[in-house]
Amino acid sequence: MSPYEENGNVLILGGGYAGLAAAYRLGRHGIPSTLIEAQPKVGGLAACSTIDGVAVEHFYHHIKPEDGHVISLIEELGLGYGLHWADTRMGFYIDGSFHPFSTPMDLLRFSPLSLMDRFRFAWGVFKAKRTEGKTLEGMNAEEWVVREWGRSVYERIMRPMLMNKFGIPPAWISAGFLQGRIKGLSSAKSSARGGEQLAYLRGSLQTLTDRLEEEIRNTCHIRVSTPIERIDTSPDGFHVHSGDEEFTAPFVVNTLPLTVFESIRKNFEFRTSIQYQAVACGVFSIEEELTPLYWINILDDDVTFRVFVNQSRMDEYSHPIVYCANYLRADDPLFRRPDDEILDLYIGSMKKMFGRVTLREGRLFRSRHATPVFDRDFAARTANLDDCVPGMVFAGNIKVYPYSRTVSSVIGTGFAAADRILEGSRP
Ligand SMILES: Cc1cc2nc3c(=O)[nH]c(=O)nc-3n(C[C@H](O)[C@H](O)[C@H](O)COP(=O)(O)OP(=O)(O)OC[C@H]3O[C@@H](n4cnc5c(N)ncnc54)[C@H](O)[C@@H]3O)c2cc1C
Repeated sequence: MSPYEENGNVLILGGGYAGLAAAYRLGRHGIPSTLIEAQPKVGGLAACSTIDGVAVEHFYHHIKPEDGHVISLIEELGLGYGLHWADTRMGFYIDGSFHPFSTPMDLLRFSPLSLMDRFRFAWGVFKAKRTEGKTLEGMNAEEWVVREWGRSVYERIMRPMLMNKFGIPPAWISAGFLQGRIKGLSSAKSSARGGEQLAYLRGSLQTLTDRLEEEIRNTCHIRVSTPIERIDTSPDGFHVHSGDEEFTAPFVVNTLPLTVFESIRKNFEFRTSIQYQAVACGVFSIEEELTPLYWINILDDDVTFRVFVNQSRMDEYSHPIVYCANYLRADDPLFRRPDDEILDLYIGSMKKMFGRVTLREGRLFRSRHATPVFDRDFAARTANLDDCVPGMVFAGNIKVYPYSRTVSSVIGTGFAAADRILEGSRP
């Protein structure tokens, strides 16, 4: 049997949403594929598990109005009825106190900044929305924020927030990337009460993953629990090895973290200098709701996590579900601790913030490759990725820059990778 008949035209490496989307688009055009995933189930960073009897994402996930690819896919697969838009409000927890931060009135009352800095902040956001990203070429995020918001706003709010979000000093992040994120945030649909409207697929993204899996099953051979250990090339195409098994095909859609790919490619050259951040995220079912806010940024060194997400604002659960999470470097001592120790630290910090917390169930989820570090040279260092290995197209988080890394944007990269292969595979 030829490699083509055995594995289809295309091997898809990784079964997150980029890989699933590529399989879906190829299948729609009648191109068979094999998708290879290391974990026992597909879904990747958007995978879900059952906590206290309800399905939830391992890492908090919401959908924004601009997330066109995922919204269209949900509708196309007949799941639109489950998409629920909620009014959400966010805030800060700074040195022991809560500060709501969703409305102009919240900003006026925001005591961590002086009155002058509150106006500077509002003016900075107004200007950021009207700035052309291209005009910030060569400038880093620290230089830009200090120029637009002033040093005190930068030190008090922006620097710790950016460190929480990206885990690297703002001087390493490109100003254009940050400006794009701020523009995206501030153009989000506002709710009648001044917060942000965000959507959630009721019953969790597992509903979409299951439906997608069902849809692609006829054209895509899905192999889970199959960690790829080696990739070679030959005139037959690519040879992907896992244990005693070998998969061969002329084309590959590669959604693996680039560092993983670099370590498993064997008889051809590929080098990357892209780094990844890790995440350690606790998801808890608790007895009583702790806050009306959906999202809280933590700027308090006595709290061991940096973001608190009140998932109960998004779906109906018999008991509230909350997330506590940290983006970290993989060599951070916290990331190296066992799950139960991290969970205990997170529970202790929740008690510090909210007083009494009665826990029903808690689990820790972590990923060594939660996100690429989008530093200043990221665009240049990933510009020619698809020209590196003939026959291999890259998709996933590595291809979303300068847009946010979301389920929706990686679906877009999966579609684009499939289209490129469809172009290349025509006689
Ligand atoms: C904490 C957190 C919160 C987030 N919140 C949101 C949100 O609110 N909204 C939103 O839209 N997005 C959110 N995201 C982003 C979203 O989850 C990702 O952008 C998306 O899931 C990435 O999909 P992907 O297919 O590119 O990568 P992944 O999901 O990482 O898929 C890659 C796959 O490759 C597999 N793999 C790795 N190595 C091997 C190997 N050797 N062999 C075989 N398989 C391998 C992995 O197991 C994985 O399944 C969040 C992410 C995180 C971490």
